[in-house]
Amino acid sequence: MVKMAVYSTDAIVIRSREYGESDRLITLFSREKGKIEAIAKGARKPRSTQRGGTQLFTYADFLLYRGKNLDTVSQAQPKESFIHLWNDFDRTIAASGMVELLDTAAPKEQPEPELFTLTLSFLFLLRHVDPYIAQAAFALRLMHSAGYLPALDECGDCGKSLRGEQAFISAEAGGLVCATCKNNRAVKALNPGSVALMHQLYKADLGMLDRLRWNKKVREEILGGLCFFCEHRLEKRLHAWRQGSEFI
Ligand SMILES: [Zn+2]
Repeated sequence: MVKMAVYSTDAIVIRSREYGESDRLITLFSREKGKIEAIAKGARKPRSTQRGGTQLFTYADFLLYRGKNLDTVSQAQPKESFIHLWNDFDRTIAASGMVELLDTAAPKEQPEPELFTLTLSFLFLLRHVDPYIAQAAFALRLMHSAGYLPALDECGDCGKSLRGEQAFISAEAGGLVCATCKNNRAVKALNPGSVALMHQLYKADLGMLDRLRWNKKVREEILGGLCFFCEHRLEKRLHAWRQGSEFI
């Protein structure tokens, strides 16, 4: 089959960086094709019609030309700019951690329509849900859907229920393990309250996430444990996530 030279898709801008004098290099997470790298020529010029559509977090309709290594944006028509993500420091930080994780975990040009819908839903949820609750819930669901985090309610080694128990998150073990099975692995400890909340963050209907509450200790354990787990599992340092952890 001959590949089309021009194609259209709706997509979220999950990375946007300056390139050359007036261009932008962007990473899109698209409904049709998954992750795409593209160049938006002249997008930083004040009058460029692509200026709005190529900003970080923007959800837009794109028309792209396929290139050898990099596709080129022909049109970018914003559908939603998610202004709330820019008007609040914590929301900017949480959304940055989320799209960074998505960029790291998603393979190039592999359609993931459910993950696309999930990501879009979470960007909208950041309007009213505690941003770090949203970030943790998104990370758990993303890692699960990518096959990196199989179970949260039982020990990955012996199958013992972890409800009401202290648990340990370990990239080597591929998830949570109990105190007996942690052995000499690199782990982060999670107290029973954190284990229970992680379960809810993962399972709860999206409409219920704004009812979840956590205290500072639980928040640090969960966000720290997830950062530790994702970085080791994906073998990449999550700069935006770590930057956020310094402020909360
Ligand atoms: Zn065990």
